[in-house]
Amino acid sequence: MDLGIKGKTALVCAASKGLGRGCAEALAEEGVEVTIVARTAAAIEQTASEISQQTGVTVTPVAADITTEAGRAAALQACPTPDILVNNAGGPPPGHFKNWTRDDWIAALDANMLCAIELIQKTIDPMVAKGWGRIVNVTSTSVKAPIAILGLSNGARAGLTGFVAGIAREYAKDGVTINNLLPGPFDTDRLKAAFEATAHAQNIGIEDAKKLSAESIPVKRLGQPEEFGKACAFLCSQHAGYITGQNLLMDGGQYPGTF
Ligand code: NAP
Repeated sequence: MDLGIKGKTALVCAASKGLGRGCAEALAEEGVEVTIVARTAAAIEQTASEISQQTGVTVTPVAADITTEAGRAAALQACPTPDILVNNAGGPPPGHFKNWTRDDWIAALDANMLCAIELIQKTIDPMVAKGWGRIVNVTSTSVKAPIAILGLSNGARAGLTGFVAGIAREYAKDGVTINNLLPGPFDTDRLKAAFEATAHAQNIGIEDAKKLSAESIPVKRLGQPEEFGKACAFLCSQHAGYITGQNLLMDGGQYPGTF
């Protein structure tokens, strides 16, 4: 299926690897000119060059911390009026709420709620002027089913989700859609620490810890960043103009509810 977005521009945050990279690759494969952001300069430059070689499209790397004012300014300087915005950032650390300080909460809110809201605020007017725009926020299944040790994520991402539910309806008439993609367990570096902890606790190898995790998922495997990216690209496509304000779970069937 031709997604009908060749020649569009996209700003994809937190994209040198993992889910963000999956989104950037899938968009570039559709002929979208992509600006990608991550903090580590060597990694984001390498990723940009690889995606550009694979797809033949222009991929602009920006080495910046997207959770900071200066980082967002650098990203927007490189790509001031994207047709497509993919909001993503690192996830907050695990822990217990009794140990979290106000600063811990502010950091989580900055990274996983306010950063996305500010980027939407700063890019949506040109989308409205063009009568076309696509915004996808990478959140987590923790929005739908809280994960006990990830209280900072449960809270901050739920805040973004509530905000998006309102704003998506407000801009629907302008051709701009805003949706959230909710990853379950994907095989990225983010989950490495969890597998290492399981391996250590159960005195097994990391690959065995991964297999154990996969066994708990109805599809019996972890998700791959490439398939996450394809779903993102579809939400950014011409064909997805009637989908807005939605939360799409990608968890291999792990969430047990009917809806
Ligand atoms: P990952 O493989 O560790 O990749 C994270 C990417 O984000 C890297 O490119 C990293 O590069 C970049 N990044 C992190 N913090 C950044 C910042 N402040 N500014 C700019 N770039 C930043 O992680 P992932 O698995 O793709 O996860 C992406 C998001 O999805 C996270 O919020 C995670 O919590 C969430 N999530 C993931 C899963 C999963 O199973 N993988 C499940 C649920 C939710 P630098 O370090 O160089 O900046």
